[in-house]
Amino acid sequence: MTGRDLLVYDDVHCIADMKTDHYMMLKKASQAATPWADMALYGKYITYFIAGWIFFGSVKHFLFSNYDVDRRSDGPAKIWERLIAAGRFIVYRQLPTKICSQLGLPTSVGSLLLIGAVTLYSLLWCFVPHPYYRACLGFGSPPLGVRAGFISTAFVPFIFIMSGKSNIVGFLTGVSHEKLNKYHQTASILCLFFGWVHTIPFYYQANKEGGTSRVHEKMYSDAIWVSGVPPIIFLTLLWLGSLRIIRKFWYEAFVSFHWVLAVGFYISLFYHIYDELQAHKYLVATIIVWGLQFLYRWFAKGYLRPGRVMKKTVAKISQFESLNQKCVELMVDLPLNAVPGQHVFLRALDNTALQSHPFSVIPTSVGFKLLVRVYDGFTKHLFETASRSSTISLLVDGPYGGVSRDPRSFSNLFLICSGSGITTCLPFVSSYASLLDDPRASLSKIRLDWIVRHSDDVSWVRDELVAIYDTFKMETKTGALEINIYCVQSSEKEQVIGPEYNKFKPAVKELVRNFSLGSTNCIISSGSHALKNEVGNAAARLQSQVGKVREVYLHTEEFSF
Ligand SMILES: Cc1cc2nc3c(=O)[nH]c(=O)nc-3n(C[C@H](O)[C@H](O)[C@H](O)COP(=O)(O)OP(=O)(O)OC[C@H]3O[C@@H](n4cnc5c(N)ncnc54)[C@H](O)[C@@H]3O)c2cc1C
Repeated sequence: MTGRDLLVYDDVHCIADMKTDHYMMLKKASQAATPWADMALYGKYITYFIAGWIFFGSVKHFLFSNYDVDRRSDGPAKIWERLIAAGRFIVYRQLPTKICSQLGLPTSVGSLLLIGAVTLYSLLWCFVPHPYYRACLGFGSPPLGVRAGFISTAFVPFIFIMSGKSNIVGFLTGVSHEKLNKYHQTASILCLFFGWVHTIPFYYQANKEGGTSRVHEKMYSDAIWVSGVPPIIFLTLLWLGSLRIIRKFWYEAFVSFHWVLAVGFYISLFYHIYDELQAHKYLVATIIVWGLQFLYRWFAKGYLRPGRVMKKTVAKISQFESLNQKCVELMVDLPLNAVPGQHVFLRALDNTALQSHPFSVIPTSVGFKLLVRVYDGFTKHLFETASRSSTISLLVDGPYGGVSRDPRSFSNLFLICSGSGITTCLPFVSSYASLLDDPRASLSKIRLDWIVRHSDDVSWVRDELVAIYDTFKMETKTGALEINIYCVQSSEKEQVIGPEYNKFKPAVKELVRNFSLGSTNCIISSGSHALKNEVGNAAARLQSQVGKVREVYLHTEEFSF
């Protein structure tokens, strides 16, 4: 059959002696020492570990939600509040965006630590136990390959579940889908990595024993060898397609392709692992949970919700352009049960109907307003539509996202944003400023700092700002409500709306350091990566104030996945 035939202990040839009694005896001994069936445990270890983190996140969310309801915001910090601050001193830190984006990693130290813990844990379970291989492939599959296969499969339910806009992990932990996306991405990379660690030992050992002819023979005699090829190819293509560079330039192609590949991956993996130590149960669990949350999303939030089944909404559309920036404003007369900080997904009912894009909502008296900064794809299409029409037909999906804590339960609310990030921050002012005068409410101070590139940019939300200044004159006089606008171009003409207009680029860390903290403080930031980075680090440093104050909580929004 072949020139090569590995000679192992007891003078046994891995291929030539395959049918002998002695070979069978050695096979039994190998299986008794490292049972094939035990490899399934490794998948469970990963599931329990991730489920443990979700449980921890759920308890934290539950405690904070209930604690917020009847907290008294005075007095010095309690011991556990100091402990939380010590943790936040680390997890709020941000690493440089440039390095992290090259490596495809999140910038937040908290997220990195969590990802690092899951990665290390899985690597240890995969590579510490020995043996990696049996003496001959005929004694059974390489243990390294089988346990890596189980570890890889254990990630699949989490990957699919965290891909949903409404998902059970987000519901339990209070972390919204766009933030969970980084965990979805990392779990996919780990699934791929362990998928290859599963695959390689089989080929390596077959080749070592009998060269390419042995590999060839295994491929044609063992159906499971052939059925393992499509899932690993689908998964590898999924990873290639999701690389940042592809998402940056071909986001729509990525989204459509992503789903096709994901379905291909799921079906081919099911076929590959069906009835192998019950591994397909991971995929059964995946489809049940994913299916339920998909139905919930479509019928409770999305296009099929009662009363709005695939109902189009006609929105007023207008465009405006400042020096280097184009913008579109959409006024949508559709009552939406949204809280500040939430976003909707839009679909235009024209030749771009397959695309769905997220935008933060600014509530109005009859519906909501969206401010869209123009790039090259869908947003450019909106801009062009606005130049020839005053209306556009849309499908609205949502609202989604938001802050996991209730900002009204803090004494001080600090909002800091750059550019179109104002869409996230402004609704907090318009919705909560009325509480500043209410003696029963916890909120006693709101400060908004908005950094714009050009003075014209202020016109994006001029009406809203004027309305806020008119309605809350008293609060702005007393300083309970403070709005500061910073225009980076010092030479441009001033926009006169309210009192605090500054013509310089502020140092974000100075802005945050100068927040006059109250007893409990909530900082919300929205805008560029650079802003998120600086606010995160500054908020981490502010944790040293906990003791004098009771809490400094941070929520950041990012306009990208
Ligand atoms: C939660 C959230 C809220 C947002 N709110 C606002 C807002 O209020 N105002 C605003 O101007 N922008 C907002 N954005 C950003 C906005 O969704 C994107 O700028 C827009 O989808 C880009 O579309 P495009 O086809 O013109 O982009 P392209 O020109 O194709 O690409 C420009 C950039 O946008 C990213 N992008 C493209 N399509 C999407 C998509 N479907 N989802 C997410 N990112 C995408 C690409 O990765 C690329 O980096 C928000 C994003 C998120 C995640």
